[in-house]
Amino acid sequence: MLKVNILEELEKEITTSDYNKFIKQLVYKRASSSDELIVFEAPNKFIANYIKTKFTNTIQNIYFNLTNTKPSIEIKLAGEKRRAKKDILNDQLLSSTPENTILNQSYTFDSFVVGSSNQMAYNASKAVSTKLGILYNPLFIYGGTGLGKTHLLQAIGNSAIEQHKTVIYVTIEQFMNDFTFSIKTNKMDHFRNKYRKCDLLLIDDVQFLSGKDETQKELFHTFNELHTANKQIILTSDKLPSQIAGLEERLKSRFEWGLTTDVQIPGFETKIAIIEKKCDLNAINLSKEIVQYIATTLDSSIREVEGLLIKINASADLLGQKINLELVQNLLKDQIKEKKDNIKLPNIIEIVSRELNIKPSDLKSSKRTANVVNGRRIAIYLSRELTHNSMPDIAKFLGMKDHSSVSKNISKANELIEKDENFRLTIENLKNKIINKEY
Ligand code: ADP
Ligand code: MG
Repeated sequence: MLKVNILEELEKEITTSDYNKFIKQLVYKRASSSDELIVFEAPNKFIANYIKTKFTNTIQNIYFNLTNTKPSIEIKLAGEKRRAKKDILNDQLLSSTPENTILNQSYTFDSFVVGSSNQMAYNASKAVSTKLGILYNPLFIYGGTGLGKTHLLQAIGNSAIEQHKTVIYVTIEQFMNDFTFSIKTNKMDHFRNKYRKCDLLLIDDVQFLSGKDETQKELFHTFNELHTANKQIILTSDKLPSQIAGLEERLKSRFEWGLTTDVQIPGFETKIAIIEKKCDLNAINLSKEIVQYIATTLDSSIREVEGLLIKINASADLLGQKINLELVQNLLKDQIKEKKDNIKLPNIIEIVSRELNIKPSDLKSSKRTANVVNGRRIAIYLSRELTHNSMPDIAKFLGMKDHSSVSKNISKANELIEKDENFRLTIENLKNKIINKEY
């Protein structure tokens, strides 16, 4: 069993307020936990349910990162008798029959705002959902974090369920986890029945297939079987199939068989429309001035916008505060502080180095090749923008002589953001990845 303190690990992964309100109250039951099943105790039903829906995946991922296994997670109530391990694992197997997966009901075509940044992907998704298995098979949607890939994927799923189709939605990590679990427990027939007998298979975030050879092999056969039977497959990824490192050629070519389409960062008007749509859906009334303020201040991530709207809603609803610009500015300030509390310099180096393909040691060196100079500039800019560190802190961390060169790099980056569209998009994409903790 693990030696690490799982709650401490979790603290690094989620917001401080979620941690303090919910996770802090969880008790890890070491004695009843095993490699296959991790048990926590929650003080009441509300907290147990909230954690179950919101954090089960995160908890599993932490275990997965540390041990390469994904246990089932049980959140039981304090004082409640623990269910037999056999029953819990059995539940997991029972769900391995071709039944619809639970989708997020709010991810529909109606709640999706269409603009030039996502028009193609939206049209393709709509078209596919009316002609499942016939039109583009597979449909492959790619693009940066938080730009609506999962939303579109699930919109297709929700529409297919209305058409009485069997829909399986999984992230590639869940697919892999399900696969390894089924091998281990000798239940491959259940696994294949689930994935090869559905009408629509939705797989999210396939970039994580990198280097997962066994899973790729299984997915290859799943793909073939579904495709031959004219069943629809839809995949999403943060990059093109050809850019996913360590992806088998034959799988790469199959991913490109149908239609490949991307989602891009929305322009200002689309962003305003998205904020207005989210307000409508959540019955929040904001003035034009406030909507504009949010769109300008939170420049890239729609997830951040949603976080802010939830806070606005809570302040207005629960605390009876009047929604005005000052309230929104304060909430936004809190949110930015909370975000910065969670991002550390090594996280930034990790993402910049991985995404721009530059060694971390080069970013921290005085190397002057164009690629490294550019990467270092971006890392410096993002460090100042997304963490609490001062310019001297950043200089020290990157092994630079003093903070004046940090300051020069930031001025240069600001200049490039104004005049170089590519540079600006690179910054926005990296920022989204960092904010969404893809390190
Ligand atoms: P991705 O899967 O690309 O990382 P998501 O689909 O999870 O992004 O989108 C993040 C959030 O932003 C979701 O809540 C989603 O509803 C919202 N969102 C993104 N694009 C749009 C859009 N065009 N219209 C409405 N909501 C959107
Ligand atoms: Mg997604």
